[in-house]
Amino acid sequence: MPVQPNTPGNHAARRVQNYHYAILNLAALAEESAAAGKPVTSLNIGDPTLYGFHPPPSLTEACITALREGCNSYTSSCGIAPAREAISREASERRIATSAEEIIITSGATEAADLLCTAILNPGDEVLCPSPGYPLYTALIARQEAVSVPYHLDPGNDWLPDPEEIERLITPGTKLIIVINPNNPTGALYPPELLASIAETARRNNLVCLADEVYRKLLYSGSHHPFASFAENDLPVFTLESLSKNFMVPGWRTGWMTMTNSRLIPDIRRALRKLADARVCAPAAPQFAIPEALSLGNDYLLPVMEKLRVRRDLTVRMINGIEGLSCSTPEGAFYVMAKLDLSRYPFASDEEFIVELLRKKQILFVHGSGFGMQPREGYFRIVYLPDPLTLEMVYHDLYDFLLHCRHHSGAIRQQL
Ligand code: PLP
Repeated sequence: MPVQPNTPGNHAARRVQNYHYAILNLAALAEESAAAGKPVTSLNIGDPTLYGFHPPPSLTEACITALREGCNSYTSSCGIAPAREAISREASERRIATSAEEIIITSGATEAADLLCTAILNPGDEVLCPSPGYPLYTALIARQEAVSVPYHLDPGNDWLPDPEEIERLITPGTKLIIVINPNNPTGALYPPELLASIAETARRNNLVCLADEVYRKLLYSGSHHPFASFAENDLPVFTLESLSKNFMVPGWRTGWMTMTNSRLIPDIRRALRKLADARVCAPAAPQFAIPEALSLGNDYLLPVMEKLRVRRDLTVRMINGIEGLSCSTPEGAFYVMAKLDLSRYPFASDEEFIVELLRKKQILFVHGSGFGMQPREGYFRIVYLPDPLTLEMVYHDLYDFLLHCRHHSGAIRQQL
């Protein structure tokens, strides 16, 4: 690669050019609107604390106690031993084979994903990514100059992937497969047979697996099956989790990766250790809350899921009640992927629709193409965390907006 001269406008690294995170892309427009006296209802970001959801008090207590007791030092780069032991114990109860030595506590699952992509990927390596999918992964892959190969989540089949398609997409350059369950942006929960089948495909093709399970406790029905529970003794799996969503403390920046069958990938393990050492450690005090979090059971979540269920049901009912809009019912997390029949509206793309809605009604969703959908497919993601009254107002405004757009585009067609 030729050396580029340091001319103005030519200082930033090329590898950041394809680094996109659509969830915050339109945040600047929303800020402009707020500064102009038109505050925005932001349904773009999955932060439960913004909508009246609070962490279990004992978690906050554990963190405060750690601070009071002077836990202000760096920790071991992999995290404090009691937290790693608690993670490993709890994981084993869910049939994830691991040990305290195979856990790295990180600044959220985000840092775990970053460390993993850096440790595993060379330029040109291929990574199988769900599409639609959480944009962090495609961004991290682009930053390594590796290649995201999308496998499709089928809206006609509850947004589930097809293991046969995954098999067809594998080439000698495929290194890693990413599975997000429950899924962001679709809210789908994967059945055990599907996970077993993906694991079998990965095993046959010597892939490394990254299982993002940051929403695993936020379920409306069914149960969560950890991907690593299908790893047997011959498939290397990294499971990513965090306190952010399941325990409603996203600002604590506390997550972890759990390795299963790491003896099969000693080089990756060594690379991870080097990378972890060089970024010193995750925030110390919240690590002391991890054992408490993992000892809680699910009772603290009952009122949370009750509220979320009302918001989900209202969203699904109202969206499907608006002409031109549709969505299926998510089984986990707090997202729904809705579809606008663009052929009936004067928008060239999903993003144009989202920007116009923001300008006219001060409502912010995220366009589906930000998650890898085609811009003309008309998908957008709704975060349905706000209270029911706010959600009702949002969907009424959305209805008004679409009605107006249709009349307007109808009038234009008539003039033509
Ligand atoms: N993975 C998925 C699927 C997410 O949706 C998010 C955040 O929205 C993350 C990872 C990052 O979580 P954390 O706050 O633990 O970094």
